[in-house]
Amino acid sequence: MIEIYFAAHADRWKDYEKPLCRALDLTGFDYHLSPECDDPAAVDYIVHAPNGPLSDFTPFTRTKAVLSLWAGVETIIDNETLTQPLARMVDNDLTRGMVEWVTGHVMRHHLGMDAHICGQNGVWAPRVPPLARDRTVAILGLGALGQACAYILSELGFEIHGWSRTAKDLRAITCHSGEIGLKETLALAEILVLLLPLTRETENLINGKRLALMPRGGVILNPGRGALIDDVALLSALKSGQIGHATLDVFREEPLPPDHPYWANPGVTVTPHIASETRPDSASRVIVENIRRGEAGAPFMNLVDRAAGY
Ligand code: NAP
Repeated sequence: MIEIYFAAHADRWKDYEKPLCRALDLTGFDYHLSPECDDPAAVDYIVHAPNGPLSDFTPFTRTKAVLSLWAGVETIIDNETLTQPLARMVDNDLTRGMVEWVTGHVMRHHLGMDAHICGQNGVWAPRVPPLARDRTVAILGLGALGQACAYILSELGFEIHGWSRTAKDLRAITCHSGEIGLKETLALAEILVLLLPLTRETENLINGKRLALMPRGGVILNPGRGALIDDVALLSALKSGQIGHATLDVFREEPLPPDHPYWANPGVTVTPHIASETRPDSASRVIVENIRRGEAGAPFMNLVDRAAGY
């Protein structure tokens, strides 16, 4: 019998119970899946979300893997009781959601849609947008999400530059890495998309100095993590016109407090951490594939590199 403990927020159980059971039934495994855990020492796999009930992994002595429902692992990576392998979520439907959010917001700024949506004032003011091929979009983070966004935007014709920790060679994307690569990428970024994980290296990466490297009036989209950006520097760059607009989905504090200056700033669009979400059907298949691998003695997918922090 494989013991699986579903350690996520209580309201997730109703979304995940059936899809997880459906995917587990297809394996033919004899399993017991429950949101309760009476005997931690008997648990083989933990399906985990950092906002759930479990933060002390010490008693889970036989657990083969902790399988996160979240793509970002910054709130769990420094947990010293977590000695078991940790897999983060890479889910096709989560990726699709992110591609749609990023593409929609890139197109809003590329086409200058606000001028017409908000400018129904009787003034005939034609402003023909450039073609995508005449616009550079830069993506910081070329992982599961960054690459998927890069490919779709490149299909639409945008000139795509991307930046990652390790050097890459990707079709239709000019890839950069390292500090010089970051400077080169920012200097071209008419629209900058942040799809980096939050780590010691990436916290406050987008500071005043780096914002100043972007073309004047550039746009920032942040569906990555709030703390990638120095908020004070961004507000100052918006005020000076160095940054034309920021569309932010993630924040240091969530929900974003009602008195936060981002809400009232016309240069900022706040979306409430909805860029993308793990989808129960597809995410359950990923979780169960990892359980299948664990039982077969095969390597787990999407393992977190503790040293790199993501
Ligand atoms: P991923 O596959 O781990 O990719 C991370 C990318 O960032 C990789 O290309 C990595 O470089 C790069 N990177 C990491 N540290 C770096 C550094 N110090 N310098 C330069 N590049 C660095 O992650 P993902 O699945 O694409 O997800 C990215 C983030 O999106 C998540 O961590 C999460 O915070 C966020 N997210 C947000 C939402 C939302 O709804 N807003 C939903 C899901 C995820 P290498 O390729 O060299 O490793």
